[in-house]
Amino acid sequence: MIANPPPWPNGARCAVAFSFDVDADSVVHAAHRAGALDLPQALAHMRYDPFVGTPRLADLFARAGVPLTAFVPGWVVETYPAAVESLLNAGAEIGHHGHFHEWPSRQTVDEERATLQRGSEVIERFCGAKPRGYRAPYYGLSRATFDLLIEQGFTYDSSLFADDIPIRLDNGRGSLVELPVPASVDDYNQYVSARAFDYLMKISAPSQALAVFREEFDAFWEFGGLFVPVWHPAVSGRPAQALAIRALIEHMQAKGGVWFATLEQVADHVRTLEANGLWIPRKERIPFYFEPIID
Ligand SMILES: [Zn+2]
Repeated sequence: MIANPPPWPNGARCAVAFSFDVDADSVVHAAHRAGALDLPQALAHMRYDPFVGTPRLADLFARAGVPLTAFVPGWVVETYPAAVESLLNAGAEIGHHGHFHEWPSRQTVDEERATLQRGSEVIERFCGAKPRGYRAPYYGLSRATFDLLIEQGFTYDSSLFADDIPIRLDNGRGSLVELPVPASVDDYNQYVSARAFDYLMKISAPSQALAVFREEFDAFWEFGGLFVPVWHPAVSGRPAQALAIRALIEHMQAKGGVWFATLEQVADHVRTLEANGLWIPRKERIPFYFEPIID
């Protein structure tokens, strides 16, 4: 079903890399600028993330002995250091997610370059190492994003619904590992209905959301894929939703044969397989198109 899956460490059947986008209230400021001050309800909703959700999830993953990757905007790192500290104490990888959660495709190339540099500098100052991975805020990649990531020495991106296993993106001057995200494992689709965010959906019971996540995982397990949930502590860090995550981890552990890793570890594994000629990922030349197909 999945063509040419990579061999995973220790003969595991599949890889699982849990990822969280730790947006906090950066999204409110980014969307509303000065008007954010008149949105205390939305600010409080998202400040649940660093004050409650992130420390709770960091503890949950540490107790389960399962690694996680957190994509954190630079401003969130500076503003909520205790939340980031809880992630680091749980052994989390910290990835790049903009500085103020800017929408990359709405920036000029120079603005996007500056945002990448600024976010990286903050993470390096706080965590001791530059981030190696990137997830675009809103999945809103610009046509320049991959070139900029390659220019700035990133190892991987994890923003595309491009495949079920890692692929390589090459612009002719350099390349990146893409660690794709399954399209149906974002928690916003399951749990968020907020007028302040203009995001009104039917809210699922955590048991229903868990069924979605579990069935996705089961298929990846069966066919050797890479399973990367995209969750948010303000959403999935609430008690019932966190219990659903715990139940999912227990399901995976009971099933066995799962390689739990950070996304950085998955990217490193891909590079090692390539270097030793053990597996070659599908390669895509970027940009996907150089000129419009239809004017
Ligand atoms: Zn985000």
